[in-house]
Amino acid sequence: MKFGGTSVGTPTKIREVANLITVPGRKIVVLSAMAGTTNDLVSYAEYLYKKEQAEAQALLEAMHQKYVAVAEELFQTNEFKTKSIELINSHFDYLTSFNQDLFTRHEEKAVLAQGELISTALMHFHLWETGFRAVLLPALNFMRIDKDQEPDNYYIRENLKRELASYPDVELLITQGFICRNAFGEIDNLKRGGSDYTASIIGAAADAEEIQIWTDIDGFHNNDPRYVSGTRRIDRLSFDEAAELAYFGAKILHPTSVRPAKEKNIPVRLKNTMNPASPGTLIAAGDSGHGIKAVAAKDGITAIRIQSDRMLLAFGFLRKVFEIFESYRTPIDMIATSEVSVSMTIDQEDNLREIASDLKKYGKVEVVSDQSIICVVGDMIAENSGMALRVLEALRTIPIRMISYGSSNNNISLLIRTSDKIQALNALSNHLFNGL
Ligand code: ASP
Ligand code: MG
Repeated sequence: MKFGGTSVGTPTKIREVANLITVPGRKIVVLSAMAGTTNDLVSYAEYLYKKEQAEAQALLEAMHQKYVAVAEELFQTNEFKTKSIELINSHFDYLTSFNQDLFTRHEEKAVLAQGELISTALMHFHLWETGFRAVLLPALNFMRIDKDQEPDNYYIRENLKRELASYPDVELLITQGFICRNAFGEIDNLKRGGSDYTASIIGAAADAEEIQIWTDIDGFHNNDPRYVSGTRRIDRLSFDEAAELAYFGAKILHPTSVRPAKEKNIPVRLKNTMNPASPGTLIAAGDSGHGIKAVAAKDGITAIRIQSDRMLLAFGFLRKVFEIFESYRTPIDMIATSEVSVSMTIDQEDNLREIASDLKKYGKVEVVSDQSIICVVGDMIAENSGMALRVLEALRTIPIRMISYGSSNNNISLLIRTSDKIQALNALSNHLFNGL
């Protein structure tokens, strides 16, 4: 069971989560840092890089005060107030110790780890104070990534097994999301939003019956509730459909977290802490229903088109183009090709200038930014004709720059201008889901 930052964001919320996890059954609970903390720690690190020590100190003091206030409110007894404030003080002493001349990438990782270390310790104290036996499993004892930043699944499985074997009769085990060690044993993390990934990796390593991701919405919706009204919860998705939706915009689940569950065929359930009775969305193998299930959009996309006579009847051309992206470690999202040109999209502009200039070796290069990918997800088998037509019909009045259809059975992606996005999402909702 994984709970995100907003789910543990206040003393009241911490108590609510405690109610949800103190039900019968053995479970591992993965917690994020309290809402806002990781962002604050990132800002703290930025001040340290810039040597703005006064600003750094002021930010840290404000955070420290917030945490002390949380402890005062969360705990009833002086014993636990004192215990928790001592713990908070020690984490803030540690954080203050970085406020010196030199600050490194490696130290930044240690700074960012403090949020999850504090939130899990507070939850542990709270359960203890209210009489529930729970054990705190330090994620740094078993979560590890390898030299390629990928989870070291063998290491994780063996070490988690050992940790779990030490507490055979404890039903409730709590651990930190996001944080891990790297191949050198240093503190590292699974990148922003990585707690979902932690939960899925742990669920797979522990052969869990189910992986639950608890947030503050009833699961995946069939469209983006920020831009479209009257969206509906999706009951069931396949792993691949969920991966596409998570990747293309639906903020509720971190995209990498589908893979470990899929590999071990462990169902993932998205649940709502504010409405625990709702079944949420179940992501699992097997029949997940037919037809178009959801629409999502991803902004910040740049389209790159390269046009070259050299592509005509040539082999090896695409490899050369892709190698350029690879050399700048920039993933490509969508591609479309014709006989003399290829268009690609990226969502990472860091090396855009270099990429474009390298591509010019092969032809004329055109770069267009401020684009969005609209992703339509569902069971889109070719025999089930008319799906693409319905999508295009809905977007009748919207200029479409690229279309990707047929690479999988569960997705149609379209590239449009970001300024047309809201209109496109609403048109798709009306046409596909509301029969308008
Ligand atoms: N606390 C981390 C973050 O804000 C990890 C997470 O919440 O998933 O990115
Ligand atoms: Mg999150």
